[in-house]
Parts: sequence; structure tokens; C-alpha cells
Amino acid sequence: MTRRVTILGSTGSIGCSTIDLIARDPEAYDVVALTGGHNVTLLAEQAIALGAEIAVTAHEDSLADLREALSGTGIEAAAGEAALCDAARRPADWVMSAIVGAAGLPPGLAALEEGTCLALANKESLVTAGPLILGTAEEYEARVLPVDSEHSAVFQALVGEEMDAVERVIITASGGAFRDWPLEKLAGATLEQASSHPNWDMGQRITIDSASMFNKALELIETKEFFGVRPDQIEVIVHPQSLVHALVGFNDGALMAHVGPADMRHAIGYALNWPHRKILPVERLDLAKIGQLDFRAPEDARYPALRLAREVMEAGGMAGAVFNAAKETALDGFIAGRIGFMDMAGVVEDTLTQVSGDKTLMSAAFTLDNVRAADQMARMRADEIMAGARTPQRSNTWT
Ligand code: NAD
Ligand code: MG
Repeated sequence: MTRRVTILGSTGSIGCSTIDLIARDPEAYDVVALTGGHNVTLLAEQAIALGAEIAVTAHEDSLADLREALSGTGIEAAAGEAALCDAARRPADWVMSAIVGAAGLPPGLAALEEGTCLALANKESLVTAGPLILGTAEEYEARVLPVDSEHSAVFQALVGEEMDAVERVIITASGGAFRDWPLEKLAGATLEQASSHPNWDMGQRITIDSASMFNKALELIETKEFFGVRPDQIEVIVHPQSLVHALVGFNDGALMAHVGPADMRHAIGYALNWPHRKILPVERLDLAKIGQLDFRAPEDARYPALRLAREVMEAGGMAGAVFNAAKETALDGFIAGRIGFMDMAGVVEDTLTQVSGDKTLMSAAFTLDNVRAADQMARMRADEIMAGARTPQRSNTWT
């Protein structure tokens, strides 16, 4: 039986990997909707190659180009946030949520409200609005499947297990681009240096977030939300080879580790075929060749984002939405050259301190409007903080 699939964010790194898997087995899938941003040429190519019903760009000003690229094909074209949500609501069996940032939340919710299985790469959905995502899934009897590699690994290690027996969850971190840099050089890290990952080939934003460990910070919160474990049960360990993706520790002392190549097509393929496994085009590891696996504790001074994530988990409520929005704004600031690499954590911390003074906002019920209000307040504050106190600390000594 063919599966009807929609890919939100099909032109990105996760989106393209999802398309790669689908294109290898075209008989098995009917593509309903594909969505992207300004890259309408690629979006149209994907839609034509896979015979999608509709292609949607997030940006109204790209609609004319998308229409032109699709003219004569019979494929519909649309633009804007409402159109993204409409696309996510079209009847489908499986929706991939692979938009980057908080923008991924509304269309993901729309898919869940139709009872559609949601493969969630967009970790920001769980960080900003975990109870809303999981509550909506429960209400509409929809499945949420993890796609982030660590969370897919935990999910797989838990098959057939009882959550009561889980003592701890350990997620691994590559340590990012600067894991071996001298600490004092980090403040001078450039955009180009932060944008290359030692092990994974990913979108630019998540690659920089890996270097700062903001990615792992988001994943700590994602782990707490998705698996319902306490913050003190979740550990982060630096594992430079990125082959062990996560481990689950049980009450009898056993550790179940998930080991596999650093290729997102594994986690995507697992979610695409769940509850079955299918042959996937990923490398088969040769352990003798690999020889050794290394682990070390993350250093607090190098990765302040991890401490902030623990504070956010303790605070609960809208703290996740504030954290994520402040992080996205600080990341924009770093990409634009407004602040230095190590200033990002300071901007996020100051934003959390300022916004958490608003108790009504912080403890508001988990609705899309309240999450948006917290998100917007945090973006405003983070922007003010960047405009004020913080100036770029680029070092001239690093070449
Ligand atoms: P990417 O930047 O490569 O692609 C993002 C996609 O979202 C593109 O299709 C882009 O057009 C679209 N998009 C961007 N801004 C948008 C907006 N405002 N509205 C609608 N669409 C928009 O990102 P990615 O690396 O593929 O990551 C996607 C998501 O998956 C992120 O949440 C990321 O944290 C998560 N993730 C990625 C990886 C990875 O290996 N790349 C691994 C784990 C989790
Ligand atoms: Mg991950």
C-alpha cells in the first residue's frame, strides 16, 4: 500500500535526505505537499520529480517565481504561513516536520490536529511547546515520532522496555567545531569556523548550534519533554566519533546503546518505516576499523548553554519558548556579525533573566498564542540586549 507523505521544509538538509529515501522507492509513496523557503527552484524541481499535489513557499514574495517554475505541470503553488498549515492539514499518512526554528510549530500542530503521524525533526516544537505538541497528539490520536538522531536512538533503545525501569538517558554530543580549541580562543571564533561540523553534514544554523552546544541544550529539553524523564535523569557526554547516538540506563545496571553511522537518513528512515525496519542506504560500520570509541564529560566553561538548559527545565512553563527565541535571535546576531561567538550564551541568559520577571507570561497555559507571545517578547528583549551592552569580541590573533 502506498503511503501519502508530506515534507515540511523539503529543501533543507533533513528535507533533502527525506526526499532521497522516498525517491529510491517511488512506488511506495504518494507525495502530497512539499514546502520550502526562498529556494523555489529546488522546491519546484522536487515537486515535479516526485509528482507532488502542491508546493508551498513560506514567503509571499517568492510565490510568483514558484508559480512560474511549476507552470504547465498541474502542481498547485501557494505561499505564507496559513498556506503552510493548510498543506500540513491535507490528508496524509505521515508528515515530516523539518522546518528550522520556531516557525515549524504551527504546521506541525496542524498535521497533528488531523490525526496525522508527525515525524519530528523540528526540535524547537518540543522545546517551545512540548505539552502542547504531545497534548494535541493525544487529543487527536496522532503519533509523534522522533527524528533527531539522539531521540530516535533513545526511542529505539526503549522498544519493548518499561519506562518505570529507566534510570537515566544519556545523549551524546560530538562537541562541535571547537571541542579541541583552547578556551580563550573561542570568543574570536568566526562565522565560517563555526559553520563547519567535524562529523555531520547539516543546515548552517544547527551546525553553529552544535559548536556552541545550544543544539545539545535544546536536545536536553527535547529529551525531558518527549520521554517524560526528570532533568536529573538526563546526561550529556562528549563522544567525538558521533557513532553512539544515545544510551538508556536501566534499574538493573544495563545500558542499551544505539550505534550507527552519522547519517540522518537512518533516523529519518526509521521514522518513515516505523513500526517496521527497511533496508536503508547508510554505511555499515566496520568496528575493527573504527578501533575505539571515546567519551568525556562536557566542560562547563566551554558550553554554558548546557547549564542554561538545566535552568530552563527546572523553570518549566514558557521558559523553553523564551530560551529558544533568545537563542534564535542571538544566532541571527552572530551570523550578522553583531555579537561574538561566546556572547550568544550571555544574550540568552540575560533574556531569560529579564523575561522571567513577567510571571503571568511565564506561567501562561500552553496555547499557540501564549507560546507566540513568549517567543515574541524574548526576541524583542534579546534584540535590545544585543543592541545595548554587547559588542562583538572578535579576536585579531586567530587566523
Ligand atoms: P535547513 O536550514 O537545512 O532547512 C530548513 C528548511 O526549513 C528549509 O526547507 C527552509 O526553506 C525551511 N524554512 C526556513 N525558515 C522557514 C520559515 N520561517 N518558515 C517556513 N519554512 C522555513 O535545516 P535542517 O538542518 O534541515 O534542520 C531542520 C530541523 O531539523 C531543525 O529544527 C533542526 O534542528 C532539526 N535537525 C536537523 C538535523 C540535521 O542533520 N540537519 C539533525 C537533527 C535535527
Ligand atoms: Mg541531534
